[in-house]
Amino acid sequence: MGFSFFASRAAARFLEDVRRPAGVSTAALLLTAASGGGIVAYADSSRPEDASGPPQQDVPRKKKVVVLGTGWGGTSFLKNLDCSRYDVKVISPRNYFAFTPLLPSVTCGTVEARSIVEPIRRMFEKKNKDVAYYEAECFKIDATKKAVHCRSAVGTNLDGNGDFEVDYDYLVVALGATVNTFNTPGVMEHCHFLKEVEDAQKIRKSVLDCFEKASLPNISEEEKRKILHFVVIGGGPTGVEFTAELHDFLVEDLVKIYPAIQDFVKITIIQSGEHILNTFDERIAAFAETKFQRDGIEVNTGFRVLKVSDDFITVKNKSTGGEILVPYGMAIWSAGIGTRPVIMDFMNQVGQAKRRALATNEWLRVRETDGVYAIGDCSSISQRKIMEDISTIFKVADKDNSGTLTLKEISDILEDICIRYPQVELYMKSMHMLDIADLIASGVGDSHKESMVVDIEEFKKALCHVDSQVKTVPATAQVAAQQGYYLADCFNKMDHCKEHPEGPLRLSGSGGDHHNFRPFRYKHLGQFAPLGGEQAAAELPGDWVSMGHSTQWLWYSVYASKQVSWRTRVLVVSDWTRRFIFGRDSSRI
Ligand code: FAD
Ligand code: MG
Repeated sequence: MGFSFFASRAAARFLEDVRRPAGVSTAALLLTAASGGGIVAYADSSRPEDASGPPQQDVPRKKKVVVLGTGWGGTSFLKNLDCSRYDVKVISPRNYFAFTPLLPSVTCGTVEARSIVEPIRRMFEKKNKDVAYYEAECFKIDATKKAVHCRSAVGTNLDGNGDFEVDYDYLVVALGATVNTFNTPGVMEHCHFLKEVEDAQKIRKSVLDCFEKASLPNISEEEKRKILHFVVIGGGPTGVEFTAELHDFLVEDLVKIYPAIQDFVKITIIQSGEHILNTFDERIAAFAETKFQRDGIEVNTGFRVLKVSDDFITVKNKSTGGEILVPYGMAIWSAGIGTRPVIMDFMNQVGQAKRRALATNEWLRVRETDGVYAIGDCSSISQRKIMEDISTIFKVADKDNSGTLTLKEISDILEDICIRYPQVELYMKSMHMLDIADLIASGVGDSHKESMVVDIEEFKKALCHVDSQVKTVPATAQVAAQQGYYLADCFNKMDHCKEHPEGPLRLSGSGGDHHNFRPFRYKHLGQFAPLGGEQAAAELPGDWVSMGHSTQWLWYSVYASKQVSWRTRVLVVSDWTRRFIFGRDSSRI
């Protein structure tokens, strides 16, 4: 999938990690925490009961933070959290972090699976953090009891019971998403997915299986064509990147070692939209389509998959309504993400049934819950509309209680409004408005601009279209990492911000005081789409688009720099070098 630039600060901090020197006791660490302004929150458990010295004072218990998931969101949160302040427990069935943007490269052996994963315990060891990790799956979140119910992923205890319960004060849900088949019959049974490291490994084996099978002596030409027909369903970034990898693998490596069957190989993309890469700039989509056509990859846009059976994929032409049977050897489904069952169950509990993802407020707290936060693919921020709060905004701005607002009164709270409702700035930008006077004038007419005074109705009229610019954030690693970083930062300064709030004025309810924190604001840093043949496309902020061979080199350097540890960086770069020199390994192990 198109690479994104992740929070580089997070990566830099990660590299600064130091080991805890051997032999440093908990007490010494607590002393350090205290002198550094940290909260000393538990007594040294090794201290004898009858130890002399002043009596222990009651210290507040550390708040329990439970983190569900060790993907982009969960690890970004943990890396940046000051764990000395909390009692932290991490629960995930996967004891490693996977650098998902390189998963397509694993499918064809361009990089090895172990080069893109970092063990979770190693991450904590480096950070010298007091974190407990349980390799288990959470199957229920009980927001009333403030507990999560888990099942061990590594067997049971002597009673044969692998279930346990962990309670929390704060819960960070970073469970990611699952595949979405849209209930298309046969997809679960016959298609490959590309979501986890294991999926990529399975794909690698299956591609080689297809080649070996087609090389057997008793296979007809028609059968060879079928076996060597690779169909990618979904023309989004993951589907496109996988297609590019597969094509490179075929033309650079496999055709040399399977010369007898090279003419039977075919790759097809089936995309329901009008173009592939439709979340990218249209220049990139056009470039990718032209390149794929030149490479002999069949790009079928405007087709919907109805059914997948053992031998055929049934597709429907969306414009003509006609159905076609496509014989295939291997199919990869990469057509969208769905909701994990545990999230669905939790959404039912908190009155959010029928949603795809957990709705949070702009501070990432799950709506209608106490102390539950959600980040990454399993969540979506529901941005408050300015029109819901228009009366409070008017009241707070009208400092002299005149029943009207002057331009100065509006300007005085403009910054708070823009922080709380980012759609205001987006709207003004989209309408080419220079300042707030332009926006207000749009509601009351230009004649008022000089000595602008507006009443509530005119104020409403000026702002009534602003909410059309509310944007949702995409389900990407870039977002998950930024959210994890933001949330950890809020946790680190929770006590400080209670006393000294840094957020905008409260403009809902009765209004007046300040929010403790600034709301989360996503910063899009651009994305890449590798297209194979040492070419890539990049879309960067400011409408900057770049395509071709030089962009591929930019891609290599960005990917190398964004690795989460020096170990994985060295492994990935050496895998690329190995591939340049010796080609990809086609052993089916
Ligand atoms: P994840 O990273 O998926 O992590 C979820 C975690 O929850 C995992 O550790 C999982 O083991 C754990 N978990 C699951 N179920 C349970 C349970 N019941 N109990 C406890 N733990 C559980 N994004 C980009 O920005 N750029 C890219 O280039 C890019 N390329 C991609 C390529 C591919 C092939 C894929 C699949 C995705 C790509 N993405 C990319 C998207 C990106 O990977 C996701 O947006 C990101 O992983 C979301 O992070 P997350 O923390 O929400 O979830
Ligand atoms: Mg007034």
